[in-house]
Amino acid sequence: MFDTLSDRLTSVLKNLRGKGKLSDADIDATAREIRIALLEADVALPVVRSFISGVKERAKGAEVSQALNPAQQVIKIVNEELVNILGGETRRLEYAKNPPTVILLAGLQGSGKTTLAGKLARWFAQQGHTPMLVACDLQRPNAVTQLQVVGERASVPVYAPEPGNGVGDPVDVARRSIEEARRAQHDIVLVDTAGRLGVDEEMMKQAADIRDAVTPDETLFVVDAMIGQDAVSTAEAFRDGVGFSGVVLTKLDGDARGGAALSVREVTGQPILFASNGEKVEDFDVFHPDRMASRILGMGDMLTLIEQAEQAFDQEQAEQAAAKLGQGQLTLEDFLEQMLAVRRMGPLQNLLGMLPGAGQMKDQLANFDETHLDRVQAIIRGMTPAERDDPKIINASRRQRIANGSGVKISDINDLVNRFFEARKMMQQMAGQFGGFGGGGGTR
Ligand code: GDP
Repeated sequence: MFDTLSDRLTSVLKNLRGKGKLSDADIDATAREIRIALLEADVALPVVRSFISGVKERAKGAEVSQALNPAQQVIKIVNEELVNILGGETRRLEYAKNPPTVILLAGLQGSGKTTLAGKLARWFAQQGHTPMLVACDLQRPNAVTQLQVVGERASVPVYAPEPGNGVGDPVDVARRSIEEARRAQHDIVLVDTAGRLGVDEEMMKQAADIRDAVTPDETLFVVDAMIGQDAVSTAEAFRDGVGFSGVVLTKLDGDARGGAALSVREVTGQPILFASNGEKVEDFDVFHPDRMASRILGMGDMLTLIEQAEQAFDQEQAEQAAAKLGQGQLTLEDFLEQMLAVRRMGPLQNLLGMLPGAGQMKDQLANFDETHLDRVQAIIRGMTPAERDDPKIINASRRQRIANGSGVKISDINDLVNRFFEARKMMQQMAGQFGGFGGGGGTR
């Protein structure tokens, strides 16, 4: 998502570099190119207009800075205007004073509501909440089962009509779910509603009736960022039909142009709270306008990366590994642990994509073969603890056994072990030179 837009904007802004002073004509030309880039990314016209006029006015205005050169100044303005369009400050969820906090999910069928329900449930549970999912999509075949699967994966209970009781009335299910949440002391209730392929009156009415039955603290409009310009009209229809207090963008991992994401907040006036970027339960983030803007402008998203790293790594374990590394004593066991920690942060392509300058490495990223890591993982898992500790003991018959057990070629094992020895030798040399480094608290 945003790749093309990001490339275009980065190159427009790059053209400004090296200019001592920007004339009005320079600014107009830059604004024109930004305008084209935004329109090509499917950003809604009114949003493009207000963005461009904001940038132009500020760039031509009196904002002369001592610290920044004119090009940097424009980049700063474009960044700030982009943050504004995306909603400014990060908007956090509002929790009810008297639990349960009720969150209603609304949106078209296929927008990713049920998937999101699972992601949110897991996210809340990780923070110590006791969420409950409610199945009010009684129209789509299998929607209830799908929610149950999602709930199971997140280890969160699902409130659904009894099977065999006919289709059931979603409004009634919703109402009873709140009583159940109070009784079972769930502090968060996530209500999944039915959607249709297109906006239709009956669906809106049902969603509005459910809303009235549960009086949600937050109603989240879930929108598939891949649907392009339609996202804006759908958002308007939901705003008028049900009303919502926040937006969730889904499928930001897709390769669509992303204009929807940039338009919905400005057009509906409601903030984006979360972004979904994959089918797995952990592919999901709180939406930060400033981080998204810097990502679009090719400045990477270091903050998100750092947060994900903090979650995935066990601090103590990492420090121990760093200390061992400093003394050149790393084993394959440590190596496996560190690798698993990195992989817990998500697919490497996503991680690398957050680094500044990643835009230029796109081809390499696209060709990155994650199965290579699977093989390395399988090989190390196939080893005994003694072998992991001291790979020197891995003789021919042990190699054969590991290859059989992990389904890889003997040459893969040789590669891994040789590279490990090389790396360890290098570390030992460095440790010898510097008297230890990292984590060990050495004197130098
Ligand atoms: P619902 O009809 O609104 O409940 O939508 P679902 O949750 O069933 O999602 C529809 C499809 O989109 C499913 O195949 C999901 O796996 C997929 N999906 C949901 N969220 C994402 C996402 O962020 N990225 C991708 N690539 N697929 C998603």
